[in-house]
Amino acid sequence: MAVCPEQEHPTKAFGWAARDSSGVLSPFKFSRRATGKNDVTFKVLYCGICHTDLSMLKNEWGVSMYPLLPGHEIVGQVTEVGSNVEKFKVGDSVGVGYLVGSCQSCDSCSNNAENYCPEMILTGGAKYYDGSTTYGGYSNIMVADEHFVIRIPDNLPLDGAAPLLCAGVTTYSPLRYFGLDKPGMHVGVVGVGGLGHVAVKFAKAMGVKVTVISTSPNKKKEAIENLGADSFLVSRDNGQMQAAMGTMDGIIDTVSAVHPLLPLLGLLKTSGKLVLVGVPAKPLELPVFPLISGRKIVAGSTVGGLKETQEMIDFAGKHNITANVEVIPIDYVNTAMERLIKADVRYRFVIDIANTLKSSS
Ligand code: NAP
Ligand code: ZN
Repeated sequence: MAVCPEQEHPTKAFGWAARDSSGVLSPFKFSRRATGKNDVTFKVLYCGICHTDLSMLKNEWGVSMYPLLPGHEIVGQVTEVGSNVEKFKVGDSVGVGYLVGSCQSCDSCSNNAENYCPEMILTGGAKYYDGSTTYGGYSNIMVADEHFVIRIPDNLPLDGAAPLLCAGVTTYSPLRYFGLDKPGMHVGVVGVGGLGHVAVKFAKAMGVKVTVISTSPNKKKEAIENLGADSFLVSRDNGQMQAAMGTMDGIIDTVSAVHPLLPLLGLLKTSGKLVLVGVPAKPLELPVFPLISGRKIVAGSTVGGLKETQEMIDFAGKHNITANVEVIPIDYVNTAMERLIKADVRYRFVIDIANTLKSSS
């Protein structure tokens, strides 16, 4: 028989969860495990809203389990550490991203790529080792094994740092792995949402020339003046796209919906790389002729390993990179999801958990 979420563990906790694929979030009481020997417990201060939360809430990928308490861009302040914990102490600013567990022994884990471990455990909506459900960061308190906890650099504001734990590493990792981080290279970023806007900032900090490829002409001014992009293409403007054919070494595609790949392949130079990080609910059509005739590569990438996530946020600290955020109270979260569907956010919603999530709510 399923154990009641409130009784599963000794520490009382509360947050907002969806009960079914309507995705509507409402107050939810549950429990967290006591701080184990290797665990870090922290008070959640802010949590970003990733498009993945929206897709999972609505069961767009057919893998969601309910009740579902999302949130994997979590930052807060340490309140307790286990006896074996060496990296963190009470009062530290920390974060947790997309995963809270992995086997620690497979090839991926041995190569600091826990994000590709077949047994990786998601921060919300998965089963933990003890069989209990994992609950994400739209909640007051978090407990995680220290291996999966990230230190937030002192100079970064916590609200703007939260989205780096998913949006940040998801774009930083492929820029590095696929060698699209060399000064003087030309990289395209498709979609200026949560992921796309930090992709622009990271690529610029690496010394790369960046072109934004967007469906929203009204994002042009900000992309260039605020995010630092060098140029801007409206993807639905054939003339603009034609003029940029064959100019890019690589493209990071963050689009959450089905969209044509042919125009993007056309933008690549010979041997250029198109890296997909967005997750449309349906398969995309892959035109083969432009691939083979230009020896082009289409690849995918998901978040990053823990070592790389720490490296990414330290790099962000050094270059003063944070997400542009709209901070919202928890009771605005369902409206925020409606706006996210319409790409109506500049560029990431972040929930002010500490000041707005109340146990009585
Ligand atoms: P987001 O903030 O909603 O941004 C997505 C952007 O895609 C939009 O701002 C829009 O940019 C563009 N877009 C939306 N609909 C479009 C359409 N029909 N055609 C063309 N462009 C469209 O989402 P996000 O949080 O950045 O996440 C983006 C995607 O990455 C989601 O699918 C999410 O699930 C996925 N994701 C993957 C990973 C991973 O590990 N691989 C991690 C996090 C998120 P413009 O207005 O500029 O066109
Ligand atoms: Zn995410």
